[in-house]
Amino acid sequence: MDHKRRLRDARLALDEARLDALLITHLPNIRYLCGFSGSSGVLVAAKRQLILFTDGRYTEQALEEVKSAKVKIANRLVLMFAAEWLAARTFTRAIGIEAAHLTVAERDVLLKVLRGRAKLRKAPPIIERMRMVKESDEIAKIRDACHLGVDLFDRLQRVIRPGVRESEVAGGLEFAARKSGAEQMAFPTIIAGGKRSALPHGRATRSAIPRTGFVVCDFGVILAGYCSDMTRTVYVGRPSDDERAGYVAVQEAQQAAVAAVKPGVTVGEVDQAARKLLYNRSLGTFFTHSTGHGVGLEIHEAPRIAAGQKEPLRAGMVVTIEPGIYLPGKWGVRIEDTVVVTDTGCEILTPCPKDLIVI
Ligand code: ZN
Ligand code: ZN
Repeated sequence: MDHKRRLRDARLALDEARLDALLITHLPNIRYLCGFSGSSGVLVAAKRQLILFTDGRYTEQALEEVKSAKVKIANRLVLMFAAEWLAARTFTRAIGIEAAHLTVAERDVLLKVLRGRAKLRKAPPIIERMRMVKESDEIAKIRDACHLGVDLFDRLQRVIRPGVRESEVAGGLEFAARKSGAEQMAFPTIIAGGKRSALPHGRATRSAIPRTGFVVCDFGVILAGYCSDMTRTVYVGRPSDDERAGYVAVQEAQQAAVAAVKPGVTVGEVDQAARKLLYNRSLGTFFTHSTGHGVGLEIHEAPRIAAGQKEPLRAGMVVTIEPGIYLPGKWGVRIEDTVVVTDTGCEILTPCPKDLIVI
């Protein structure tokens, strides 16, 4: 993790945005810039200083994790403490805030402490943009997390049976993940059987896996700080011709989008590759979400792979490709891989068969 390089790039972006300092309140951004993984902190990136403000619970952890920033332990509300430090510095006139990660109440605290001595400005997504392109050791960590996900799916197939509760399937998966060293799941595990497979975000419930129907399994782990994300849809019983055709359409749409991934192609074009295929099979209206998202320290991060988005792919970006179709009240199918953009195309980080598995 090259924190020095990251800080240099952040400062260039600060200059470009005409900000004297950036007040970072989004914890993954703090972790990215200085290595601190605690749950309470404010990081101030000024032109010459980088200071992490945290509270007494994290004294030891901060000293251990943070090499590139000064650490100050707050004896009152961390944000207030950081604001007081800023208020005392005459060089800070324009302070960038992360508007998406600061509550109205927190902004009021800042305004009260600063009392007009500096202006708060909505900062552009400086750190989020930096995080889009991963360093090689970040890619290695995401690959490890994804490979753990693939191992877990192998187990999952042996557990899914008619009559077993979705929550039991999810629980087994999560227990195995933790036994393998996962810090936690990257998001609530989705196990959605039968009619529930038509819910794009059907979290595992007490419902039993039905005698016949699709089961959408979407899950991810966090390993060494980095997330994995994959979806496979299996079938319990005997699929009808329509169900089989639907599955194959999603599989082909997913493969078309993966094949479109390479540097210079926009994320909108990748989305279009999947969408077009489903429209050609008259299934486009059932594809009700975007094609994918970035993955890294967070399960959902930039870029968003969605219709009309102009962001060009660059080598080192890690994104998911996850088209799906959802026929309300009937069934749904989604197939998702996480891929890393390479110089010539992409590497699939979740190598796992995609032909329909019938249980
Ligand atoms: Zn997923
Ligand atoms: Zn996803």
